[in-house]
Amino acid sequence: MDFELNEEQREIWRWAKEFADKEIMPRVEENDKKAEFDWDLYKKIAAQGFFGAVLPEKYGGQGVDFIAYALMTEEIARACSSTRTLFSVQISLVELPILKFGTEDQKMKYLPKLATGEIIGCFGLTEPNAGSDAANQQTTAKQDGDYFILNGQKTWISNGSIANLAIVIAQADKSLGHKGICAFLVETDTPGFSARPIAPKLGLKSSDTSELFLDNVRVHKDQMLGKFGEGFKVAMYCLDQGRFSVAAGAVGVMQGCIDISKKYAMERQAFGQKIGEFQMIQQMVADMVADCEAGRFLVLRAAYLKSKGVRNTRETSLAKLFCAEGAHRAAHSAVQIFGGYGFSEEYPAARYFRDGRVLSLYEGTSQIHRLIIAQDELGIRPANGPGSPATTFDRLSGLYPEQPAPSMV
Ligand SMILES: Cc1cc2nc3c(=O)[nH]c(=O)nc-3n(C[C@H](O)[C@H](O)[C@H](O)COP(=O)(O)OP(=O)(O)OC[C@H]3O[C@@H](n4cnc5c(N)ncnc54)[C@H](O)[C@@H]3O)c2cc1C
Repeated sequence: MDFELNEEQREIWRWAKEFADKEIMPRVEENDKKAEFDWDLYKKIAAQGFFGAVLPEKYGGQGVDFIAYALMTEEIARACSSTRTLFSVQISLVELPILKFGTEDQKMKYLPKLATGEIIGCFGLTEPNAGSDAANQQTTAKQDGDYFILNGQKTWISNGSIANLAIVIAQADKSLGHKGICAFLVETDTPGFSARPIAPKLGLKSSDTSELFLDNVRVHKDQMLGKFGEGFKVAMYCLDQGRFSVAAGAVGVMQGCIDISKKYAMERQAFGQKIGEFQMIQQMVADMVADCEAGRFLVLRAAYLKSKGVRNTRETSLAKLFCAEGAHRAAHSAVQIFGGYGFSEEYPAARYFRDGRVLSLYEGTSQIHRLIIAQDELGIRPANGPGSPATTFDRLSGLYPEQPAPSMV
């Protein structure tokens, strides 16, 4: 087993780390207080080419692998989870699904613009009555000649008010259940499309989160993403991608909590010594480091499988569950190490605590990931498809034929 990064991965990690420290960190507190999307920072990220990281060169991207993408995502989240959400949505929830399911025309039309940041994307699955139960879509798509007419409401959509392009999931034939669901590429200036920001929120204050309203939105059939009835599959693919980047972001939150806690613990004095010299503080630091490193390896394992084109729903779920919960533990400990100052918005622990809380809510709650993992383990529903060997080690040992599922990278 090889734990070394290659030169390109190291270089990208350094590049993202430097950008996070120089450009994101200095603004994060003010952006959190203002609770506004930072357009200037957005332009800087776009100018770096970050939004095109994973896309092939043909579509204006740089074609980095998923290990490098995970490390970039971690670094951005170490500095700011709102910015990380923007980055994750653009790449994992919008670009990669278009790359996977889009026609060549759709790819050429949208991917280069998404890669440069000329346009922003969002992904609209969740509805007021369809969250974890995502197949319960109430948004309808009624065919009218060459067009579909969309009606309904989406909620909790990241980038919703600032997006130029939305992937909208809608029910086109209720009699077919989830096989009647379709996905559409909807330009947000289409008549009948509107958005309203959700505020105030507990955290992610400088990330735009919005409701979407679709009132007789006419979309040409050429804007369907994937085939008729493939919308649920598209949505699950989006989540497979999104969960991975949320897991990587959670590692960044853990690392951020470690960084601020160790600095504070070696400065703050109590009873005539640094609090970092107390064993009970050391215990919290040790647990944070163990969670962070274990979580990072789970993310990198999922990244490795993704880059190899091996189906990884189980491994991504494990990474998402462990890292989200680990980020909660780390943020909780950071507040504890800061003592009363951890309760103050003047110190960064409170922001990590608020921002980190969402990690076990979106892209599948922790309960939903536990269901996926347990049902896989019990043989009730194999997460990586029927007949897949239970563990990653089984699959990578060479004793089993590799899963022919590059479609799920
Ligand atoms: C900041 C933010 C950004 C978001 N961005 C997006 C986005 O860009 N696009 C998008 O489509 N959505 C987005 N979401 C929505 C998010 O994915 C949903 O909130 C999430 O899927 C949970 O759905 P829900 O809120 O309806 O909760 P519910 O599904 O109603 O869940 C409520 C509780 O019940 C539990 N529960 C539900 N079903 C089960 C079960 N079978 N077994 C055990 N427990 C269960 C849940 O775990 C949870 O604890 C975002 C949410 C937030 C907060």
